Amino acid sequence: MNNAKTRTKRIPKTTSQRLYLGSGRVGLARSEKLRTAQDVTGSSACGLDPEDWTESRVQAHRMLDDLFDHLEGLRDGPVWRPLPSAVRESFDAPLPIAPSELSAVHEDFLRNILPYGNGNLHPAFMGWVHGGGNLAGMLGEMLAGGLNANLGGRDHAPIEVERQILRWVRQIFGFPATATGLFLTGSSMANFMGLLVARHATLVESGPDAADCSLVAYASNAVHGCVPQAMELSGLGRAALRLIPVDEAGRIRLDILSSSIAADRAAGFRPFLIVGTAGTVDIGAVDDIDGLATLAERENLWFHVDGAFGALAILSPTLSPLLAGLERSDSLAFDFHKWGQVPYDAGFLLVRDGEAHQATFASPAAYLRREARGLAANSPWPCDFGIDLSRGFRALKTWFTLKTYGLAKLGDVIDNTCALARRLEARVRAEPSLELLAPVALNIVCFRHRGVDPDSLNARIVADLHESGIAAPSTTQIGGQLAIRAAIVNHRTAARDVDALVDEVLALGSRR
Ligand SMILES: *Cc1c(COP(=O)(O)O)cnc(C)c1O
Repeated sequence: MNNAKTRTKRIPKTTSQRLYLGSGRVGLARSEKLRTAQDVTGSSACGLDPEDWTESRVQAHRMLDDLFDHLEGLRDGPVWRPLPSAVRESFDAPLPIAPSELSAVHEDFLRNILPYGNGNLHPAFMGWVHGGGNLAGMLGEMLAGGLNANLGGRDHAPIEVERQILRWVRQIFGFPATATGLFLTGSSMANFMGLLVARHATLVESGPDAADCSLVAYASNAVHGCVPQAMELSGLGRAALRLIPVDEAGRIRLDILSSSIAADRAAGFRPFLIVGTAGTVDIGAVDDIDGLATLAERENLWFHVDGAFGALAILSPTLSPLLAGLERSDSLAFDFHKWGQVPYDAGFLLVRDGEAHQATFASPAAYLRREARGLAANSPWPCDFGIDLSRGFRALKTWFTLKTYGLAKLGDVIDNTCALARRLEARVRAEPSLELLAPVALNIVCFRHRGVDPDSLNARIVADLHESGIAAPSTTQIGGQLAIRAAIVNHRTAARDVDALVDEVLALGSRR
């Protein structure tokens, strides 16, 4: 960890003095005023603002410096460290009734939290599909925390930031100006809400008497688990999601989908929704989006795309042809926090038919009355397009990320992760003791060591990799076999990280 000396070195004295002392004087004057006012009214010390703004300011800069040191030195540390039991037990502390110094809480953070993160900042993190975060986004998140804006509604600039991102998202994905959308926690929530809009639109169309117990939906059997869960949460039930087989590339079989729809109609069911996947969670396969759009149009079904990580491949000119037809979908779920590198969390739902979207969620309440002017103007509000009433300012870290790096650069990052996946694929193919288990469509490589009892061998290899701190892939099942799964998402990942993964898998495999 860094000490006071390195910190002083990092900030030139003149700058820090100007920063701390210059604005500190203003802070002092204000807190003096505040104290006088409190004395007069007799309401002493009930607020949470600091008595000494200068001291807090110095402490805040220290906290920022520590994080900068951490980010700058990521490569020098392990991807992940197991939590020592003493650290785990430190979270079993009694209720904090009495106050602590901010600096003491920060020391606790430095000791017990910072070194034991998830690892997804690290260049050699390749597990699941985790974004790497970014500096501009982090600073945007800090500013958002300071503003403490509530983006449920009302008339203020933060709402306009989210609206601007909605306009950008429409443009990125070729949606019309009437399309609506909003930030959500992630694609699990966005897929769920997309499904709710699809159901609402279907039931409105078929009249208020329509029961939804016969509604059925379709997705490939490689669909993310949040979609069957969304079916259950919506009350439609998991069984009402027909799981259609995939081809060798992991893409939904359109012929089987088409005949399943016909069979369901003949049996009295009411097909209402097709969920396509742009980037399956296991192997990164992209369904034939254009073919699905055509089929959905012909069958008059709602077409939703789960583009959790894959949709942002549209930012890469070389990859975007894979997503042809995305502009024809009725709704799209995707995450800025995966391939978009925005700090967690920043999911997004985009809906072509803005009226259907609003009709699904808008619920008038006296305390949410809209006005033509004043703070209660600027309707419709984001809370009219979702379940959440209070909403944080996820838009700001996204705004900082998109504006600071620009879409072209973010597209390059996405391209590069796919190039690294191809490098990994080539290395796996070149090693006789390794075996590729799935085609590489985007940035995910599934492979394994061929040693004896391969399922337990490869599970042990992955656990050893994690504990060594050298690389952090995850595992999945491909065709009943346990696979080492490397999803390269992080903008920091480089060729040497991919090479180190292969070298270490080979070393661990031969040692076993
Ligand atoms: C990650 C992922 C999800 C879930 O998104 P969250 O943001 O984690 O809620 C859904 N579908 C796919 C294909 C994913 O990769």
